[in-house]
Amino acid sequence: VHRDGEAIYDIVMEPDFNGLGPEVEKLGLSERKICLVTDSNVAALYLDEVATILSKCCKTVLTFVFPAGEEHKNLDTVRSLYEHLILNHFDRKDLMAALGGGVVGDLCGFAAATYLRGVDFIQIPTTLLSQVDSSVGGKTGVDFDAYKNMVGAFHMPRLVYTNLATLKTLDGEQFSSGMGEVIKHGLIKNREYYGWLKENRDRILARDPSVCEEMVLESNRIKRDVVEQDPTEQGERALLNFGHTLGHAVEKLKDFSMFHGHCVGVGCVAAAKISARRGLISEEEVRDIRDTMLQFSIPVAVDGLETGEVIRATLNDKKMDAGVVKFVLLNEIGKAYVDRTVTEAEMKAGLEYIMETK
Ligand code: NAD
Ligand code: ZN
Repeated sequence: VHRDGEAIYDIVMEPDFNGLGPEVEKLGLSERKICLVTDSNVAALYLDEVATILSKCCKTVLTFVFPAGEEHKNLDTVRSLYEHLILNHFDRKDLMAALGGGVVGDLCGFAAATYLRGVDFIQIPTTLLSQVDSSVGGKTGVDFDAYKNMVGAFHMPRLVYTNLATLKTLDGEQFSSGMGEVIKHGLIKNREYYGWLKENRDRILARDPSVCEEMVLESNRIKRDVVEQDPTEQGERALLNFGHTLGHAVEKLKDFSMFHGHCVGVGCVAAAKISARRGLISEEEVRDIRDTMLQFSIPVAVDGLETGEVIRATLNDKKMDAGVVKFVLLNEIGKAYVDRTVTEAEMKAGLEYIMETK
């Protein structure tokens, strides 16, 4: 990933954890302490292996494990992490590492951004969602009361190290949640990639390593290109919010019981429907987008919600810009743009299309 023409960090993709030591050594950080942060599920699977590898290239390896789940992505957990760092005399030259999904990456990244006004950290993403999305781009943060990602900072990692083999232990719903973001990448930036995903569906769902590698690579490339152009979300980066305007509202109304990528899938289909009503894409393409989501086990349905409450929640969302809802629509498959003129009637039509899906 570059900024102003200069490389600021590498995204490395490997079939195992063996390359992690050499990558960390390349950063020239071997004299440092490292604090490996992870959650209880990932700790049971990968902590020992990763800690052993890091102990060969760093002076001291500390570990911090917190209970898995979005409900622990909060300031209480950050506070215990700060305490752990202070007790262990962690200083500004030391390094943190996030081993896990987006929850671990966001929380560890936020602690790294704020502890002693910022220490280095690396990302070792282990969910599909974190590999294709949250580990790249430097957004970190935690939830505050009922408000998701309310407190945060932009803090770039020094390295993103993806071990593709970790995808094998992910359960089916977590995997399909990541696919919601992957399909979104194709829809906003690359029509061929979207077609490739459909063609390779069976191998993707079987988590065939070479196909997954190609997929994570292309999704990373898309996300990287977008964030390079607009690291702090002044314009271009907003395209990544395709599917997120209505998606967030659904996620919130469902009290976060639905997977993030599934909510995004719902939002993508509704936004595609709105695009079709404006004659930008065809109705057939909307059906194709919906069917593709379904084929990747993304349930394009929201039970127990009414269109009216979803629209109200959307109007209350922080993505509102001076009283106007920022929507991302499709000019065509593979090309998205930000639109500030979407009406309530259009949102209603998009949502009704979802509600009809069974
Ligand atoms: P997550 O981190 O909660 O991981 C999902 C579950 O899978 C957890 O129970 C975790 O313990 C488990 N897990 C992780 N890796 C595993 C593996 N290899 N095998 C088996 N189980 C594993 O959730 P997520 O979906 O990775 O991330 C969601 C979070 O990411 C949300 O908090 C969201 O706000 C955030 N996010 C951040 C950004 C960003 O740009 N910073 C972007 C998108 C999402
Ligand atoms: Zn998302």
